[in-house]
Order: sequence, then structure tokens, then C-alpha cells
Amino acid sequence: MIEVKDIKEVVPQTNLFSVLSNLGHEQVVFCQDKEAGLKAIIAIHNTTLGPALGGTRMWMYNNESDALNDVLRLSRGMTYKASISGLNLGGGKAVIIGDSKKDKTDKLFQRFGEFVNSLSGKYITAEDVGTSTNDMVNVSKSTKHVTGLPENQGGGGDPSPVTAYGVFMGMKAAAKEMYGSDSLSGRKVSIQGCGHVGQNLVRLVTEDGGNVFVTDIHQENLDKVKMYNPTIVDKDAVYDLDVDIYAPCALGATLNSVNIAKLKCSIVAGAANNQLEDEVIHGQLLMQKGILYAPDFLINAGGLINVYSEIQGYNRDKAMQATQHIFNVTLDIFKNSKANNIPTVDAAKHMAEKRISDAKASR
Ligand code: NAD
Repeated sequence: MIEVKDIKEVVPQTNLFSVLSNLGHEQVVFCQDKEAGLKAIIAIHNTTLGPALGGTRMWMYNNESDALNDVLRLSRGMTYKASISGLNLGGGKAVIIGDSKKDKTDKLFQRFGEFVNSLSGKYITAEDVGTSTNDMVNVSKSTKHVTGLPENQGGGGDPSPVTAYGVFMGMKAAAKEMYGSDSLSGRKVSIQGCGHVGQNLVRLVTEDGGNVFVTDIHQENLDKVKMYNPTIVDKDAVYDLDVDIYAPCALGATLNSVNIAKLKCSIVAGAANNQLEDEVIHGQLLMQKGILYAPDFLINAGGLINVYSEIQGYNRDKAMQATQHIFNVTLDIFKNSKANNIPTVDAAKHMAEKRISDAKASR
């Protein structure tokens, strides 16, 4: 038991409230249970449009500040994603600090579910990097505020095919804007990362007549797209490849000053979250280079649309139809970016922010 006199020695001297105020967060919950081995943070960014929905990431962070930074950044991104997708949802996210390969137990996720439940539906969780539908089943033993459940439990199962479909819609909208036709026939498209989303995107682009180039750090994932006969390239060769479209589907922050200087493509449209290392600098840099950037939080929203559909009684056809709408919204963003001579990421953020401020004003 820590005595009161000790508390000032253990609380780090940070300006946490100014950070939360700058980023606009409503609430941050630190959850710990020594017995269950649980250290988690739930961040609720904005609930103007509805309950904050966002997945739970399990990751071995280098330190607790990194975990806090990640959950604050990701939850803010969810606010934008939900708003621009027209969903009645706010933005939230959770992180569990731990190794998803070694530290998972049923008890850990059940205990985490109790913390989610204590928020009475203000935060709804789902799977994310390092967590699975099976983990969400354990969470669901303690709370009903969970999505991303398997299909046999009324859930939507793996959201990746829906995410890939939305990315494909965003890519086609970018092709229409840049080349005058939304067909990818004959277009050279590089896809970085052949994981859950990347594999589905390889299929969709190939079926549309595109010439696909793929890279991955794991041979077994490259093997899974073999039947589409893509050209395999080295992971470091992907940035200066002579292609029309680059689709980042692996890591965030690949759009940095070094890589943007190498890019020969005219469109960037992919699934990865937080592709721009710095939203202001790199959004501007892409625009200056004449590269059309389809904002990540807009075109990768298919997964969120899919889990949102679970709340209303899951129907995959409806989720796919709603995801198809990403095509039109992406075109609107390009129009607005052109009209105001601003980077597409800024146009997308303005649209998302406007929906939230309109909702606040109409209360
Ligand atoms: P995943 O983990 O299944 O796939 C990622 C793939 O990238 C893996 O095959 C991995 O080997 C590969 N990879 C990692 N580092 C690489 C590198 N340096 N070069 C090339 N390949 C590399 O993840 P996913 O579910 O397919 O998601 C892909 C991205 O899209 C992630 O950034 C994720 O956050 C984002 N996203 C996913 C969804 C979804 O529904 N799954 C929704 C929204 C956003």
C-alpha cells in the first residue's frame, strides 16, 4: 500500500491535462490488475456523435509514455474516421501493455471487459493489432459493450475484407480524379504488406485489371497471394518503384520526407493507419509533388463500418453498401482540396470536424 506521502514521488511530473486539452480528449482511464497481469489505458476522445468505438491494441511498448501517446493518437483518429464516415459514433481506443504472443490469458481479457463495462457504454471495444475475435469473446463475458465478435456469435467476424473494399473504393475515386476513369485496368499498383487487408486488396485490384507489385517481410503472406501472379519486390524497393499507385498496407508513417522524395507514383491510397509521419508537413509535401493522397482515416473506415453494423444487428451486405459510399466521399474531399488549395488530409479533417461542430451547435 502506498502511503499518501509517497504519491508525489511516483506521479510523473507531466502536464497531462494540457496534453489532453490540446488533443481534445474527454476522458482517459488507467486500468490495472496485478493478479490478472493487466495494464491498460482506455482513451475516450470525443462522444459528440455517439459512443466512442475503437479497438483494443495489445503491444509490448518500450515504456508507459509510448503506450499513452499511442492510445491518445489512435483514439483521436477514430473520432475523425467515424465522423467522416457518417456514423453516429465517437472516437475511442484502448491499449493493453503486453506481448500478445506470450501474455494473453482469458482472465486478462475478462478483467479488461470489467473496466470497459464500468464505462456503461460510453466506450465500445473491438479487436485491433495484437487482439483477435477470440479475445473479444473473453471480453464479452464481462461486458456487452464489445464488437468484433465471431459470426457464430452475432458478430461480423474478420473486418479486413470490408476494409480492403473501402480502400479499393478510395483508390478508384483517386484514379477517377487523376486519370479521368475509375478503372484500374493497366494501372501499376504497389501493395506494401500482404496481411489481412493487403491480400484482399491484391485480389480486388487484380480483378479490376491492375498490374500488382507486392512486398512483405513474411514469405508465407506472399505465398497467400501467389494465385494472382503479382510481381514480388524487395521491401526497401517499394518506395522508388515505377508505379501509378502506392498502397501502404503494413505500417504507419511511411510517408515521411525520405520516402516521399523517392516516390514516382501519382496516387497514394492504402489501409495503414497514420500514413503521414507529420500530417502538416507531409500532407503539404505530397501536394507539392503532385501526388494525390486519399486520406487513410477516410478510405480505411470499412472495418469500423463493419463493427458499427454489429451494434444494429449484423448484415454484411449492408456494411459493404455503406463502405461503397467511400468512393463518393473521397471524390468530395478531392473537390474541396482543389477548390481551397489545401492538402487532401486537411480537407478530410475539416469535413469531419464540421459534422461534429454542427452536431454540437444543434443541441
Ligand atoms: P496484418 O498484420 O494482417 O498485415 C500487415 C502485413 O504487413 C503483414 O503481412 C506483415 O508481414 C507486413 N509487413 C510488416 N512490416 C512490413 C514492411 N516493413 N514491409 C512490408 N510488409 C510489412 O494487418 P492488417 O489487418 O492487414 O492491416 C494492415 C494495416 O491496415 C495496418 O496498419 C492496420 O492498422 C490498418 N487497418 C486495418 C484494418 C483491418 O480491418 N484489418 C482496418 C483499418 C486499418
